[in-house]
Amino acid sequence: METLPCQGCRGLCCGPVSVTAKELTAIKKKIKSMPKKQKLELESQKRFHGTCIFYDLEKDKCGIYSARPDVCKKFGYYKQLVCFRRPELATKSLPLSREESVGILSIDFTWADFR
Ligand code: SF4
Ligand code: SF4
Repeated sequence: METLPCQGCRGLCCGPVSVTAKELTAIKKKIKSMPKKQKLELESQKRFHGTCIFYDLEKDKCGIYSARPDVCKKFGYYKQLVCFRRPELATKSLPLSREESVGILSIDFTWADFR
């Protein structure tokens, strides 16, 4: 499968995303399992307003990759979640039923909720 050319975008499309209760629990677990130094380093990075609080600017990748929300996994490959750099890769259709969102990451849930 063709993949998106994300290297170098520096979190361009990583903004506020909605999360389910299950996803929130998984993120909390992920953050808890991080070494303290790594956690502090990730938290203290200077990001533009609107960039996801978990985007790792220094490594140019998601800082919670294995626990990222479903919408992040789907981004770029679904018609409702098009990446402007490779719109032709957005070919799938989102299933109708989705678990209910409990809020927006980076807005309703910030680093204070994960310490
Ligand atoms: S999905 Fe698109 S905009 Fe987002 S990081 Fe990847 S290439 Fe860049
Ligand atoms: S959780 Fe990761 S992939 Fe999702 S928006 Fe934030 S940095 Fe990007």
